Amino acid sequence: MGDPKHTPAMKQYFRFKEQHPDCVLLFRMGDFYELFFEDAETVAGPLGLTLTQRTGGVPLAGVPHHQLDTYLRRLVALGYRVAIAEQIQDPKDAKGVVDRAVTQVVTPGTLVDDGLLDGAAVSRLAAVHFTEPGDASPASVAAVDASTGELVLFDAASPESLIDELASRRVGEVLYAETATGEAPPRIARVLEALGVAGTGRPAWHFRRDESLESVRTQFGVSTLEGFGLADGDPGVHAAGAAIRYLRETKAVDDEAANGRPGAFAAATLAHLRPPRRELAGGRCIVDAVSLRSLEVEQTIREGSAKGSLLGLFLTAPGSGGCRTAMGKRLVREWLCRPSGEIEVIESRHARVAALASDRRFARELGDLLSPVQDIARIAGRVALGRCSPRDIVGIGGSLGRVREIASLLEGAEAFAPQRGVLVSLSERLQPIAERIAAECVDGPPANLRDGGVFRDGIDAELDEARTLQSDASAWLAEYQGRIAAELELPGIKVSYNKVFGYYAELSAAQARDAKDRLDAAGLTRKQTLKNAERFITPELKSFEERVLRAEGRALERERELFAGLVAEVSAELGNLLVLADAVAELDGVLAFADRAIKHGWSRPAMTETAELSIEDGRHPVLEESLGSAFVPNGVSLGTQQTDATLALITGPNMAGKSTFIRQVALITLLAHAGSFVPAASATIGVCDRIFTRVGADDALHRGQSTFMVEMIETANILNYATPRSLVILDEIGRGTSTLDGLSLAWAIVESLAGTPDQRGPRTLFATHYHELTDLEEQQAIPVANLHVAVREWTPAGGETEIVFLHTVKPGRSDQSYGVQVARLAGVPGRVTQRAKEVLDSLAVHRGPIGGGKGTSPAQPVSQLPLFTEMLPHPAVDRIREVDIDACSPLAAFELLLELRELIDAGDQ
Ligand code: ADP
Repeated sequence: MGDPKHTPAMKQYFRFKEQHPDCVLLFRMGDFYELFFEDAETVAGPLGLTLTQRTGGVPLAGVPHHQLDTYLRRLVALGYRVAIAEQIQDPKDAKGVVDRAVTQVVTPGTLVDDGLLDGAAVSRLAAVHFTEPGDASPASVAAVDASTGELVLFDAASPESLIDELASRRVGEVLYAETATGEAPPRIARVLEALGVAGTGRPAWHFRRDESLESVRTQFGVSTLEGFGLADGDPGVHAAGAAIRYLRETKAVDDEAANGRPGAFAAATLAHLRPPRRELAGGRCIVDAVSLRSLEVEQTIREGSAKGSLLGLFLTAPGSGGCRTAMGKRLVREWLCRPSGEIEVIESRHARVAALASDRRFARELGDLLSPVQDIARIAGRVALGRCSPRDIVGIGGSLGRVREIASLLEGAEAFAPQRGVLVSLSERLQPIAERIAAECVDGPPANLRDGGVFRDGIDAELDEARTLQSDASAWLAEYQGRIAAELELPGIKVSYNKVFGYYAELSAAQARDAKDRLDAAGLTRKQTLKNAERFITPELKSFEERVLRAEGRALERERELFAGLVAEVSAELGNLLVLADAVAELDGVLAFADRAIKHGWSRPAMTETAELSIEDGRHPVLEESLGSAFVPNGVSLGTQQTDATLALITGPNMAGKSTFIRQVALITLLAHAGSFVPAASATIGVCDRIFTRVGADDALHRGQSTFMVEMIETANILNYATPRSLVILDEIGRGTSTLDGLSLAWAIVESLAGTPDQRGPRTLFATHYHELTDLEEQQAIPVANLHVAVREWTPAGGETEIVFLHTVKPGRSDQSYGVQVARLAGVPGRVTQRAKEVLDSLAVHRGPIGGGKGTSPAQPVSQLPLFTEMLPHPAVDRIREVDIDACSPLAAFELLLELRELIDAGDQ
């Protein structure tokens, strides 16, 4: 690699490549980030870059420096890890090759830059440490949000709960101890597959106790972790240590450089990383990964977009119920994906929403103050990572001012007393920083420090002096122009400046020709010839130019120093800024809930410790937005009295609104646990430990398994884990197999979930097209309630019977499935629907009423269902099929008759 033939720059390149062999390397050269060799060849195509050849046949592709973010985003989305080698020295100061260093490695779980990570999005890094050998081992996990420094430790008791935890926390990259051969162990491979995220293998020793403990202690400058409420032997420390080590590498943390190098690049420190906080199991209403997807909490299933999802409601414009700040958006995402299971937490959030929803002026004023608040949490992250801009710092300053005003607005609002306490004390403490920023920085600073003009005049003598020289330039130039015009007797001479040639004196071509001798004598040297003009320089102009340039450089250098000083002051308060950010996010979140409550008439749910679920006039939160008043509200009541059923069977034709109804009940329940009001006239909700849903096939999560298998895996999960405190939503269970199998399974599943009057099951809504199941209601031993979504039938004179969907949920069973009518509505040709109707009629005559058996005993439901008895194969029938009639004597026929009779008698017993 250190081939002497290589240029010094290429030697740097090879060195970096050796240090980061698993990365695509973007190598800064002037205005481009260059890709060489294999990197260029593999990514040029997907990125749409032109692949060229450098001298010596080296493949090369370049990315313009101002488009770095765009390309980085695409590279990371394509699954690449990217190392960025920057020029860390001003090329003007370089003697020989300019200094370069890898300043960061960009991976999906360590994104921090605004250009790469949308403000509302989150992409955490999770380091997973298995505490036992074997595939079913519990795991201890450290989840880090590199952009805000949040570091949480938690345990997952099983592989399933590991997947659910990682999904609900928006993990974008999983760190694991690789095997001796450098591979992902199977238990990690399964997690990566289920989540569809990137995995990064690290040497196993990074997860070892001593090494990881050391890296946690060093990061936080402590000798023991007890101050953080963690035993040194806490298994989460293994994961936290590995995560911190990885972050330090990817963010190129350089402790020496961190101690002040006012160069082009400030060093990363990770000072924003918060001490590890252990999250205990419990206290939550768990919504597993499958349910998050199928309820479209974060994104829609079909388009994968936030728009149209539950979260999408809070990401829209503030006037329509969206959050004002990116911090609020991230927190609402958290609340919806990880709703609380603690009644006190939920009710206190409801109380804050109520305070805002009942006082619109208060809500509006809070909104006005929150709107301009910047993303304090992410700015704090950028400060720590050495990549904050002048706009970030001025943004912090302005936001601190708003926070003070918010603190005084909250005075007297009892529900907000805790938040107000935090805001008052922190904004007081941070006031000097806010004042310094306001006093020193201009209001609208440039995005880049190198453009200059960040600091105000009059705050620093050295900066002022350097600037005076620059601003005096125009006066000097005017004076000089007048002087040489008089001396040379050439009134037409003009002195100007351009970027390429610097300062020059210009004459028209004719004047220059006529005055040639005078110009030579006065020491004017020709510099550039244009079509109609000549440009000259003079020694005086040249030395002036140097002075001005020096002053410019000095001014910039001084601004850099001043900026570093300001950043250092902000750095010292990162912890406080992050606490402040949390408080602001919380306010923004409850305000978005309140806005929506006001706009759509949502009401405060009553939370109880019972197993009740009563909703009056509930609406689907997303559909009510698009359908408006056309949406038909529906209610449900389960488990209000001890004797009430906790399981409702919902029947009705396709398209009647069954799925919408059961999803709406799940979403209302979820919203209530997230701390929001709910789209219903009123609701009483017993706190849930889990919300389970099984609706539609979800192939993306289980590639390679049949739809039916997926359905059964998910159902098994529900049957194994649902408790009387859970809410279960099941849609069309048993569809993926034969009618008989499906009905039998659905039947048994309903029985199992319904429980008994003494031993209650989870609150369950079960939408089904198996009308036979509705018979279960009549059995006292199994508490099941029938609901159906009503349709109206009408027959136009001389026409076919039509149905009109009313979308109203009513007690009782649906008597027909109306499949033929729905098919007609869908445009299936008349000849086909007509024939289907004939077939249906003949089947109905042949089979008797659907699900006709009354009083079916729970112990033997199958034997009493006509549907089953008719379709079951009978040994007598099989026997008849076996007979070879041509070879059958009269005697043999008689014997066969006797045998058949015996078979039938045996079957009846
Ligand atoms: P099913 O599950 O019974 O086949 P869906 O729940 O998918 O029916 O509903 C079909 C369509 O009916 C939905 O796309 C929606 O537009 C409409 N719909 C459902 N429920 C309502 C309602 N309560 N009010 C108005 N429209 C509804």
